[in-house]
Amino acid sequence: MDNEPITRFPPSPSGYLHLGGARTALFNWLYARHTRGRFVLRVEDTDVSRSTQESVDSILEALEWLGIDWDEGPYFQSRRFDVYKEYINRLLASGNAYYCTCSAERLERMRQEAMQRGGKPKYDGTCREKGLERSEGAVVRFKAPLSGTTLVKDRIRGNIAFDNTELDDFIIQRSDGTPTYNLAVVVDDITMSINTIIRGDDHLNNTPKQVQLYEALGCEVPDFAHVPMVLGPDKTRLSKRHGAMSVTAYRDMGYHPDAMVNYLVRLGWSHGDQEFFTRDELIEKFNLEHIGRSAGVFDQEKLLALNAEHIRAKSNDALAAHLIPFLSAIGIDAAPGTYLFNVIETLKNRSKTFVEMADAAEFYYVETVTYEEKAAKKFLKPGILNPLKEITSALEKTETFNQETLEPIFQRVMDKHELKLGKIAQPMRVALTGRTVSPGIFEMIEVLGKAAVASRLKDAIEYIESRQMDG
Ligand code: GLU
Repeated sequence: MDNEPITRFPPSPSGYLHLGGARTALFNWLYARHTRGRFVLRVEDTDVSRSTQESVDSILEALEWLGIDWDEGPYFQSRRFDVYKEYINRLLASGNAYYCTCSAERLERMRQEAMQRGGKPKYDGTCREKGLERSEGAVVRFKAPLSGTTLVKDRIRGNIAFDNTELDDFIIQRSDGTPTYNLAVVVDDITMSINTIIRGDDHLNNTPKQVQLYEALGCEVPDFAHVPMVLGPDKTRLSKRHGAMSVTAYRDMGYHPDAMVNYLVRLGWSHGDQEFFTRDELIEKFNLEHIGRSAGVFDQEKLLALNAEHIRAKSNDALAAHLIPFLSAIGIDAAPGTYLFNVIETLKNRSKTFVEMADAAEFYYVETVTYEEKAAKKFLKPGILNPLKEITSALEKTETFNQETLEPIFQRVMDKHELKLGKIAQPMRVALTGRTVSPGIFEMIEVLGKAAVASRLKDAIEYIESRQMDG
């Protein structure tokens, strides 16, 4: 190709952006970024009854969350009817299209008969040579070649020849004057200079029709790359049965967009056996040659593991921006800054999602700790009172509050009472967090700081003593 690649993503706004659509968008976007080409966004909203503004908004929101930016658009097909008209007229003028007045009943009868014969329903060409003028209720049909083959050159699947006798004079303009999908797509792709079309192979049956339109219009046929579908673990086409389908549902479940991007791209494209890719690496390495010919199988566990890996690989600062909304969702008002970054440092290796991380971070932000009942019962017991008191007073006296100064304090108390770290760590953990699972004791103490630790330990001491009195 002499020119820079120009790709496009043309969603139909009749729902949210689902995983398969997002992957198609990513392939087109990555190919444009990799080749320093251009990426065009186009909203295919000609079907007024199914298109909603809400869907447009949610698709754009999902693309933005994924970090897919576009160089042109969004164009809206519904605002381009004039352009389609012009091209339809051009096809009529050149003899490549004609008006057809066949009644819906006759066409339906033909369809039924074909089905009964077990054949494909095809228009029989009744109006093809009639030279009809425009009239109320007439449709416009493309005058397709009657013999020979139409070749689709596909960058993934190689050359695919379609027998023209299998194709028919398809409608390009409905009786209400609106263009059909195949016409609008081709006109858009021509006028937007799209030269590389990467899309799901569910569109492969449309491609020969589109190729015929390009040829009739005397325009260069773009490169096609038809990508196999995404399947669920049971090898049927990915659907709601397999879990959440919308991209933004994954955002809400606490996924990092880079993990989502990485996972979706790997679901159909490979670079050796590398699984983890940063966004920049994907841009650097993505190509069409390594898109597989077999369908990708969606595996939520794999996505989750990859998410954990991306979380681990990010800076605390970068993670903070993602975590903050999840903290506010559980009522924690956290500002980006040293405290939050330190909190994240203790959690990033143990959280698979931001939902998990926010939940695990909660104790860092509470005024007073609420104990899990079972945890308190098991670990906040009278036998631990003296060691806890000694640790508390020793901690209060230390100036520097870090792992090096904390360890000997614990060691001294443990030696004196002949306790192992486990015996003291769990009660400390419950005292400081209310739970039995938390980051490492010393890391956590260091982040919480002297005042919070001392006050939480005193609360725990008081709690044990009050229970002693009750008992
Ligand atoms: N609007 C079509 C869809 O959402 C895409 C058509 C195309 O890629 O050519 O399936």
